[in-house]
Amino acid sequence: MTKTERTYLDWNATAPLLPAAREAVLAALDTVGNPSSVHGEGRALRMLVEAARRDVAMLANTAPAHVIFTSGATEAANLALTPDYRMGRTPLSIGHLYVSEIEHPAIREGGRFAREAVTTILVTRAGIVDLDALAALLDGHDKAKGLPMVAVMLANNETGIVQPVKAVAEIVRRHGGLLVVDAVQAAGRVPVDIAALDADFLIVSSHKLGGPKGAGALIARGEVLMPAPLIRGGGQEKGHRSGTENPAALAGFAAAARAAAADLAGRNGRIGALRDALENGMRAATNDVVIHGADVERIANTSFFSLPGLKSETGQIAFDLEGIALSAGSACSSGKVGQSHVLVAMGFDAALGGLRVSLGPASSEADVERFLAAFSRVVARRRAA
Ligand code: PLP
Repeated sequence: MTKTERTYLDWNATAPLLPAAREAVLAALDTVGNPSSVHGEGRALRMLVEAARRDVAMLANTAPAHVIFTSGATEAANLALTPDYRMGRTPLSIGHLYVSEIEHPAIREGGRFAREAVTTILVTRAGIVDLDALAALLDGHDKAKGLPMVAVMLANNETGIVQPVKAVAEIVRRHGGLLVVDAVQAAGRVPVDIAALDADFLIVSSHKLGGPKGAGALIARGEVLMPAPLIRGGGQEKGHRSGTENPAALAGFAAAARAAAADLAGRNGRIGALRDALENGMRAATNDVVIHGADVERIANTSFFSLPGLKSETGQIAFDLEGIALSAGSACSSGKVGQSHVLVAMGFDAALGGLRVSLGPASSEADVERFLAAFSRVVARRRAA
C-alpha cells in the first residue's frame, strides 16, 4: 500500500456515493424543470420525484403516499418530534417525549419539544432499551397533558445493536402513545416493514445507503396522523414540507434504495463474513479487546470496540495515520471526538474509549487485512507506551 492509499471503514458516518446514484444525480441535474410546473418539463421532473418516492417507500415496505421527503434524517426527526399533530382535521396534542439514552443527537435533542418535555429511557448494560424502564415511565405519564410519544432507533449507529422495536411498540400501544423509529442505520441493511414494527413514523437518510447527502424522508404509517409542518410555504409534499423538491438528490437516494433492495441478503452475508473475520483477527491479536454488543443482535456491518488504555481520539488518529478512516463513534460537527454517550449509557467507565469500524458493500478482504495489520501495530505501540 502506498502512503496515500486509504481504507474507508466509516460507512455508518456516510457511505461512498454509489456509481448508479451518481449517474442518477447527474441525469436529474441536467433535466430542466420544476416538479410543480404543469408544463411538460415540470411533469417530467414530477415523474422523477414520484418514481423516487416509490423506491424510497420500499425501504419501509409501505405505500409511496406515506413518504415525505426532507433534507435528511435530522430534518425528518425535527418534523416528527413535535407536540402538535393532526389526526385528519382534528388537532392532537402530544404531552411528552421519551427518547432512549442511545439515540443519535438528531433525536435526543427532542426536536420541537421543550427541554422539560423530554425524558430519556435507560438502556441495559447490553446496550438495549430497557423495556421495564420504558413501561414504568409510560405508567407514570400524565395523559392530561397530552399523549406520550416514544422515539427509539432500530439499529444504533455506534454499536450496530438492533433494538427491540416491536416490544417497544407493544408498550407504547398499551399506553395509547405514538412511536417514532430512527431507521437510518437499519434501512437498506436489514428488511424493514413499518407495519410489522407497528411504528407510526420511520426516519431514513440517503447518504447512509450510498445516495447523496442532504436527502432523507419521514415515512408515515398512513396519511391521517401527521405532524405540524416544520417548513411552511408553497405546500409541496402535500403541505407537510414546503420548498421545491431536490430531484437530483432524490433520484440519487432512489438509486441507492434500489441497489440495497436488489441484494439485501447477499450484501449482508458478505459484509457479515468480513466483520466476523475482522473481529476474530482483533481477538487473535490481543485478548483484552472488548467488542461491544458481540453477544446480541447487531446489523452485520458494524464493530464497536475498546482497547483498555487507548483513548478514542488517540486511537482514531493512530488509525488515520495508518491510512484507515474509522470513527470514534461519536464525533461532534466541530470534528472534536467526544466521549461516547452510548458507552456511558451502557454503564462503562467514561474514560473507556470506543472505536467504530463500519463496513459496506464495497468493503473487501484486503480492507480487513489492512485494518488488522494496522490494529496489531496500534496494539504493540500501546503496550510499548
Ligand atoms: N440518525 C442516525 C442513527 C444517524 O446515524 C444519523 C447520521 O449520522 C442521523 C440520524 C442523521 O442523519 P442525517 O445526516 O441525514 O441528518
